[in-house]
Amino acid sequence: MYPKLSISLEGIENNARIIQKLCSDHGIQITAVLKSSNSYENSYLPIAQAMKKGGIHYFGDSRMGTLARMREMGFSDPLMLIRLPMLSEMEELVGYADASLNSEETTLRAINEEALKQEKVHGVLLMVDLGDLREGIEDEKELMEMAQLCEDLPGLDLLGIGTNLGCYGAIVPDEINLGRLVELAEKIEERIGRRLALISGGATSTLPLVVAGKCPRRINHLRLGEGILLARDVEEIWKVTIAGLRRDNYVIEAQVIEVKEKPSHPIGRIFVDAFGNTPSYEDRGRIRRCLIALGKRDIGDFDALTPLTKGMEILGGSSDHGIIDISHVEEEIKVGDFLQFNLYYQAMMHSIESCSVSIEYRGK
Ligand SMILES: *Cc1c(COP(=O)(O)O)cnc(C)c1O
Repeated sequence: MYPKLSISLEGIENNARIIQKLCSDHGIQITAVLKSSNSYENSYLPIAQAMKKGGIHYFGDSRMGTLARMREMGFSDPLMLIRLPMLSEMEELVGYADASLNSEETTLRAINEEALKQEKVHGVLLMVDLGDLREGIEDEKELMEMAQLCEDLPGLDLLGIGTNLGCYGAIVPDEINLGRLVELAEKIEERIGRRLALISGGATSTLPLVVAGKCPRRINHLRLGEGILLARDVEEIWKVTIAGLRRDNYVIEAQVIEVKEKPSHPIGRIFVDAFGNTPSYEDRGRIRRCLIALGKRDIGDFDALTPLTKGMEILGGSSDHGIIDISHVEEEIKVGDFLQFNLYYQAMMHSIESCSVSIEYRGK
């Protein structure tokens, strides 16, 4: 069945091993983030197993459903919910996850109650907002009180504090904001009279700081997804090379359904496209182009895709079609051919969640 997403488990294992070594050399423990894994085909299991072979033993996901299904499939390693939990999922949270990220007193009290009911202790990582403006406590006094609350509630175990950067506000993790995180952690330690187990300094976007040896020493935890699975951002966006990382772990294959020569500029009055946007088109005259049976429903946006065939250029597409300029492709492209593309984060996430994309594993 096509489109087909082919995932290299060997490549993921390889990347897990390299990133795990890099982090442990800097005293950093990893929670591998599976949020890119599909719930229909249970792809999180083979992917988590590949990461385990690479030496990673803590896992997390932003959806409770994924964690619940992993447990149902017999996965027994520690699991962390890396999105703030909903009040409507307390039973699953306490039942299936060992820990979660938190920033609300109401939620913490509800987790405590549920934990007491299930006779469990739930781990808490308090989130601090250092300027990226997504989740987290901004006010120092509020953070201290929340930490004390976690200490006081018997169903909770305060593991430490963490932050998230480079998501909404696109803020770069640096020595200043992560330094502030360590400072806040030490103030909490002073108040509660014990050392915190985890100071979680973010996601893949913190790796360049680790490579540069500039990550504050007490940062001892990262939540990593992209850097292990795709490994494209660190090299392509941050211009930092981590030797040996494979960047071709995910390849999507789509079949050609039309090959024709047509104008490159639409004909008639341009108004709105399938998604209500008014695009602009470059006029390159008549071009040889092909249509593939792969659309925005499968990959989110065509910007998140790069063709593996030399000379090929993606012009765009709609919900169910991709349009490609093949004027500069040497080999002949015919109806029925399969074309391959590398994916960026957005396309990987969409394709793995799409029930019309089939999944195939390469290597073990
Ligand atoms: C997605 C996510 C991560 C992992 O991000 P990557 O860029 O894939 O490493 C870490 N923490 C939180 C809270 C997340 O939502």
